[in-house]
Amino acid sequence: MNTNSHSPKEPSVGTVYLVGAGPGDAGLITRRGYDLLHNHADVVLVDALVDPSLLAELPAHVERRYVGKRAGHHVMKQDKIQELLVETAKAGKNVVRLKGGDPLVFGRGGEEAVVLREAGIPYEIVPGITAATAATAYSGIPLTFRRKSCYAVLFTANAAPAREGECGVIPLADFAKLKDGTLVAYMGVRVLAKVAEQLIKDGMPADQPAAVIERGATGAQKVVRAPLSELAEKAKTEDVKPPALIVIGEVTELPDQIAWYEPGPLATKRVVVTRPVGQARELVDGLRGLGAEVLHIPAIRFEERFDRDTWDALLTDVDARRAKSPGQVGWLVFTSENGVRFFFNGLRRMGRDIRFTGPFKLAAVGVATGEALAEYGLTADLVPQTATGKALGAELAEVATQGDLVIRVRGELGNPAVETALANADVTVSPLTVYTTLDASIDELDQAWMHQKDPDYIVFTSGSTLQAFRRQWGDEEADRILNATKIVSIGPVTSSLIRGMGYDIALEADPHNNAGILEVLKEKSA
Ligand code: SAH
Repeated sequence: MNTNSHSPKEPSVGTVYLVGAGPGDAGLITRRGYDLLHNHADVVLVDALVDPSLLAELPAHVERRYVGKRAGHHVMKQDKIQELLVETAKAGKNVVRLKGGDPLVFGRGGEEAVVLREAGIPYEIVPGITAATAATAYSGIPLTFRRKSCYAVLFTANAAPAREGECGVIPLADFAKLKDGTLVAYMGVRVLAKVAEQLIKDGMPADQPAAVIERGATGAQKVVRAPLSELAEKAKTEDVKPPALIVIGEVTELPDQIAWYEPGPLATKRVVVTRPVGQARELVDGLRGLGAEVLHIPAIRFEERFDRDTWDALLTDVDARRAKSPGQVGWLVFTSENGVRFFFNGLRRMGRDIRFTGPFKLAAVGVATGEALAEYGLTADLVPQTATGKALGAELAEVATQGDLVIRVRGELGNPAVETALANADVTVSPLTVYTTLDASIDELDQAWMHQKDPDYIVFTSGSTLQAFRRQWGDEEADRILNATKIVSIGPVTSSLIRGMGYDIALEADPHNNAGILEVLKEKSA
């Protein structure tokens, strides 16, 4: 698709993609936009109104920059942003400039394109769903409707009324005379009273149906409807804040017939998920489904460990055992989904494949581990009643055959519970370390999000994750965040470790998995 970009591309220059992220709900970005973000971007410049969950789990090399409003700071100046776009592309990087809504609707995308053209930087513009269509759709307000509205006018209200603004004078007096149409004002919350007053003064009926939609198409959507003359007062009573859209016209009466969107039980809640990449998707998606705004800021990450000598020795042993007795060689033991993934990576590096597992029975702790095995077409033969390494070791000791080889696939920091439980069984235990756990780092975007607004909840699935979180943010900032936020723990073991570090647990999941976390948040936050 690069062929669509404007101007032939010099090999050393990156392309800038001006991408509309849609209005809030991360599901409303286009496929093209999502693909560019995940598969082509080297650098992403992010605006304030973009749903954080869109920026989670990008490939590790992608640099995320925040250019929106920060608490206590000003917006990065437009000319600085433009400079940054040009510089970054000139350095050979592909840039995704991710903007709320559509890049060309009150988004300065057009201005950026002009600058890029002048600088000889190739670019592509990917449209997005603008607030005027998204917020109205999620409120049950069609922009056009037979016999009620035959056109829609989009304008920015902050240049109104009759004030020379960046867009020149907004012709409110002309708008006031329009009939059978819909007026949609962006950036209008602060001037709502003035705009309404002016329109009425200029001849619009005082009882003209109207609405304000705050944070449309997000879990926090709020729709306030009133006749034009009462709208500002009602919006004030209901504490409507930006970003919000003003919609004026008979179509604002239609929600009575066609409104459909119900924000979920966690609407308006901001939840931080600290689980590592690869283990957070279910939780993040589940929380979003409940209406929460989710910041996925992994506290830890995993890195492969591959020791060829250990693998060599192991494979030699297995091959010798197979040659001697072609039946069962023993057990392969997995206690985490990482273990499964990194094990099969290692196996591939050794030039082997799934058939290696043939003469083994498989033991697995935890639902997620079982699911990871299923991705390789495998089903565990033994899953202990209780999801702990200790229980697995104990059950395995009962069923293992004398002389079995037990390959214990593990992380570098894993606990020795399985080995301990098997100490007295007549089996050979071969530990195989396939990954290690490291602290994840935070970037400019994580910091900007955290400073924008304190989270309501922060989820920890282990004590060590909280320790990593403290190292990540620094003790002082971590304490500030943790004291301003309710801590959600995955279960009693994690809770007691966290309490031991001096923090309160607000909610504890039962069952002790992602589903349990979602359940407890849904119930208790209501
Ligand atoms: N390019 C964006 C608009 C940016 S200007 C777009 O196409 O949507 C910012 C203004 O957009 C806000 O002041 C508000 O009026 C509107 N806006 C953005 N997101 C919104 C949302 N989720 N709900 C209602 N209005 C929104």
